[in-house]
Amino acid sequence: MKEQNSFYITTTLPYVNAPLHMGHALEFIRADVIARYKKLLGFDVYFNTGTDEHGLKIFEKAESLNLAPKEFVDKSFEDFKESIKIFGLDQSILHFVRTTDSKHIKAAQEFWKKCDKNGYIYKKNYQTKYCVGCESEKQDHELSEKGECPDHPDRKLEIIDEENYFFKYSEFTDKLKNFYAENKDFVIPDFRFNEIKAFVERGLHDFSISRLKEKMPWGIPVPGDEKHVMYVWFDALVNYISTLGWPFDPAQGKPEENLFEKYWVNGMPTQYCGKDNLRFQSAMWQAMLMAAGVSNSKQIIINGFITADGGVKMSKTLGNVVDPTEIVKEYGTDALRYFLLREVGSFEDSPFTMERFKDAYNSGLANGLGNLTSRIMTMAVNYDVKLSKEELDIKYFSEKKEDLENFNIHKYINWIWECMGRLDEFIQKNEPFKKIKIDEEGAKKDVHYLLHHLYKATLAIEPMLPETSKKIQELIRENKKPEKPLFLRKE
Ligand SMILES: [Zn+2]
Repeated sequence: MKEQNSFYITTTLPYVNAPLHMGHALEFIRADVIARYKKLLGFDVYFNTGTDEHGLKIFEKAESLNLAPKEFVDKSFEDFKESIKIFGLDQSILHFVRTTDSKHIKAAQEFWKKCDKNGYIYKKNYQTKYCVGCESEKQDHELSEKGECPDHPDRKLEIIDEENYFFKYSEFTDKLKNFYAENKDFVIPDFRFNEIKAFVERGLHDFSISRLKEKMPWGIPVPGDEKHVMYVWFDALVNYISTLGWPFDPAQGKPEENLFEKYWVNGMPTQYCGKDNLRFQSAMWQAMLMAAGVSNSKQIIINGFITADGGVKMSKTLGNVVDPTEIVKEYGTDALRYFLLREVGSFEDSPFTMERFKDAYNSGLANGLGNLTSRIMTMAVNYDVKLSKEELDIKYFSEKKEDLENFNIHKYINWIWECMGRLDEFIQKNEPFKKIKIDEEGAKKDVHYLLHHLYKATLAIEPMLPETSKKIQELIRENKKPEKPLFLRKE
């Protein structure tokens, strides 16, 4: 068997003009942790993200700014690319796909043609109510008493009455059931997997995948029918493989340049998304892949939502929005990463409030990791205790890999902080700073023990807090104490 050495991970693609919020931060940072972890293990990693740039919302926005849609998305994309730098993603493995890229447009059309050729696309008259906010059809029973979308009461429902292309989703009920039965960890966590199984079990309904171009001028043309453009899913979801240059054309490159083969077929394609994307990623996209004859994703990881205090939605009107950009400006990237990884449950909804953030920052970083490093390094420098070359040469270290393999980052990072807590206790119990006056050798041995374990903990947090981890590694290697606190205590 060929050795598995490539790994593919992707986030969902935000709308190109969406303001960054804490949910984006969570998804990007978690995917980055897994990407960095795999890279440290020696995998050749492809980390995909990018922007969804078609659709009515974007067309309307461009129009309101008196810009051509392409002009608007070009500028918005540059802003997006710049703004997500605050999350500290590993730029060396990060790739951006745009749904207006020519390679994406070509791939989406090719994907459509394959599904069509395999008999999964047909045309019929279509009448429905549609919420552009949700990008989904609404049955009457899903609407509020006033006939509005409960999630978007301010948005008028679109009434659609036209000939559309449809995807034969209904033919995939059994195929998906079998697929889930054969892939026991396909959706993580379990309770989300059960949710999607139950949804498919109830039976799937064909859905519309095109719109008349005259009503929706900003989309990818349907192959062979210029009156229609693709609608949302057959455009947006294909990004996960268009980013890899699918379909690979042997005339365009050598087989080893086939990124699709390398990262999708052999790279355990792993997709991170929020719980509102469960159906689209773990059922719809999988059925589409089956219809086109393309291999399925390996795993879908579902995040909960970040809420405000008391589990309510963050909203401007309630004034409870915490902006990730502001957090990074004042506390730094690793502080944001720390909170989202340690204080937010791996899979459940969790609140993000400034009060909780400051508490966690002061106790876990300023008084925790920062203070511990400073205490240990001060003793190591004063008593001239260093690690041997052999001790420094261990590469990535973690005894608890299974937590990361299971995407339980929260559990993993808690374990590291427990280990650091034990180092604090060790200092209190053994008091090497007192012992040094009566038993120099014993005190040095204690400090060596502390240094060794601090180094291991530092390696273990590298995927989570890369900047801080590298700083501490350097201090240990160069036998220096931090010139200023790693994390300043904040009131
Ligand atoms: Zn809606």
